[in-house]
Amino acid sequence: MVIFGYRLPKKMTPMLDSKPLLYKSSTDFPPIKRAQLEVLQVNLGYLCNLSCTHCHVNAGPKRTELMDAGMVDTVIDVLRELNVKTLDLTGGAPEMNPEFRRLVIAARALGVKVIDRCNLTILIEPGYEDLADFLAEQHVSVVASLPCYTEDNVDSQRGKGVFESSIEGLQLLNKLGYGNPGSGLELDLVYNPGGAFLPPPQESLQADYKRELGEQYGIEFNGLLTITNMPISRFGSMLMSKGLFDEYMTLLRDNYSSANLAGVMCRNTLSVDWQGNVFDCDFNQMLLLPVLRDDIPVTLSQVLERSFEGHPVIVADHCFGCTAGQGSSCGGALN
Ligand code: SF4
Ligand code: SF4
Repeated sequence: MVIFGYRLPKKMTPMLDSKPLLYKSSTDFPPIKRAQLEVLQVNLGYLCNLSCTHCHVNAGPKRTELMDAGMVDTVIDVLRELNVKTLDLTGGAPEMNPEFRRLVIAARALGVKVIDRCNLTILIEPGYEDLADFLAEQHVSVVASLPCYTEDNVDSQRGKGVFESSIEGLQLLNKLGYGNPGSGLELDLVYNPGGAFLPPPQESLQADYKRELGEQYGIEFNGLLTITNMPISRFGSMLMSKGLFDEYMTLLRDNYSSANLAGVMCRNTLSVDWQGNVFDCDFNQMLLLPVLRDDIPVTLSQVLERSFEGHPVIVADHCFGCTAGQGSSCGGALN
């Protein structure tokens, strides 16, 4: 199958069922080259205890796509051989992959920082009662999406009861020391706008979150990461259906800041899907724009064989989402 002018291997084609928005491969976004690999972001699969309507990967309790033990072994090899500093785990709910704990233990034994992108509600699911203890014992950093500090806004985006369960999950983490600056257990929250606008300044919004969550629920956390909505996947479809797509792209372009180019995550991160296909970032993974070598998509085992430092990143118009305003990455604002 050919998409964006690239030929995809057969095993990737089922992913096209998710119907990504097609992008013209020509763009005026500046070219970027990869620097040294520091972060490996791994999607462990689409199984999740929730099924949020806005979910980019349509994750849910019935999804069966999970990274298998053999591919997890390859991830561990890459961490070891390439001296990767950070392993960033996503899903679905990454903790539901049966290989999750083995991978975390192996990465930590190598001295790799592990980030768990946790939906918080999994921490209080039956069968996962010891998960929070495990994360604390392994000194895993928790990054959790909480699109607002009010119940109504969170439940409307993520489903009824999700805010209450998230607060319960946060309180459990706080009891173990997460979010307490002296504990070494990092807990960051993630905000993304509820519509077609750029995030407000990260620092002032963080102050609001700390005040509201502290006063109302006694919750502590380290930092708030504000992330710009990318004009792709469900958000892109919503923009299209409301006739707002061009307006949003104009907003991103008008707020382009070249200062953000140096910090975009595709410079030092590789994103890996549950089958071991490799992408410059999570967004390119959603758009099925793989890293290419000689026009053929790269797999994780090939990352072991050669360095991709200096390799051109596959950029397209959605990249303006990373450079608009204060900039945006999985680690929040860029400046
Ligand atoms: S918690 Fe995250 S991965 Fe799970 S369904 Fe919701 S958005 Fe998707
Ligand atoms: S969307 Fe991906 S490839 Fe484009 S600038 Fe952002 S991180 Fe880089």
